[in-house]
Amino acid sequence: MIPFINLKQQYQDYKNEIDKEIQKVLDSCAFIGGEKIANLEKELANYTGSKYAVTCSSGTDALLLSLMALDLQPNDEVITTPFTFIATAEVISFLKAKPVFVDIDEATYNIDSAKIEEKITSKTKAIIPVALYGQPCDMDEVNQIAKKYGLKVIEDAAQSFGAHYKGKKSCNLSDIGCTSFFPSKPLGCYGDGGAIFTNDEELASKLKMIANHGQNERYRHKYIGINGRLDAIQAAVLLVKLQHFEDEVAKRESIAKRYTTNIDKQDIITPFVKNDRSSVFAQYSIRSKDRDKMIKKLNDNGIPTAIHYPMPLHLQECFGYLGYKEGDFPISEMISKEIMSLPMSAFLTKDEQDKIIDTILS
Ligand SMILES: *Cc1c(COP(=O)(O)O)cnc(C)c1O
Repeated sequence: MIPFINLKQQYQDYKNEIDKEIQKVLDSCAFIGGEKIANLEKELANYTGSKYAVTCSSGTDALLLSLMALDLQPNDEVITTPFTFIATAEVISFLKAKPVFVDIDEATYNIDSAKIEEKITSKTKAIIPVALYGQPCDMDEVNQIAKKYGLKVIEDAAQSFGAHYKGKKSCNLSDIGCTSFFPSKPLGCYGDGGAIFTNDEELASKLKMIANHGQNERYRHKYIGINGRLDAIQAAVLLVKLQHFEDEVAKRESIAKRYTTNIDKQDIITPFVKNDRSSVFAQYSIRSKDRDKMIKKLNDNGIPTAIHYPMPLHLQECFGYLGYKEGDFPISEMISKEIMSLPMSAFLTKDEQDKIIDTILS
């Protein structure tokens, strides 16, 4: 079986460095906070060009902490897409605010910026565009709308760390950027992890406090917060992987290019990336009306597949109380029936790529 994401090969390649850095944390017994976290935050900020990076316990918590730092209140509204991972909208509901969905663009699968304005009400507080599969959204348009109505923009960059948009890095394209270091994301750690990016000093310091029980000094709590910290072992892993990350991004891009050039079939739609941005291909996802048949053929030939995502959020049971129904977001619904992801990682060999391409073409 070809690995869907080859984490084993990645570990083998970086094993010496990773083992050494983890051992240093074990020897120091500084498991929470400390030098590794400070170094990682500096490196992450550097990498994205953001002034501040605050590490945290997951991509989900990055989104939650961001909404908490913006003082989101019950009954406030937050605009986002129904074609994303549950976490994007879940955190809005968790704070008793209301997710308001806007359908996606059929070409990029990202929120359709032309449909945002009509959903804004006096209760709208923020917009969460999601850089799906690793491609940033129309951030200029989203930021412009937000500015016009006094809203905040939180980029859900859980899949797009490393991507570019008009010369800037994803995570540094709006008021706040949130990413995830879940193991299968483009930059993954060895457990759960995430980070939040901003250029606003006050916001950065508030985020840092909220992720640590709202403490401004020991046992003095300025805000209601959570335990949302990243731990030092994860930081050690990420510091090593970050050194190799640009190289991995380039490899992912060239594999994606090879897929796209070779999967030249009328009934298969390959990813479309706008020319003023790049994707890190967190997923390489194609569309086919014959998806189920294709999945079976691939799986029978030892090629794993995945579906991101089989059911849009407005049709999920947990969001039933929002009152949406089938037909409300026709593009999201159509894509969820046709989309499927192929194996993708910087460690996918040429032979494996060829086998995947040949099986699809046959
Ligand atoms: C993975 C993901 C998240 C959540 O990240 P975790 O680290 O798993 O909590 C949020 N949004 C999107 C779009 C994701 O893909």
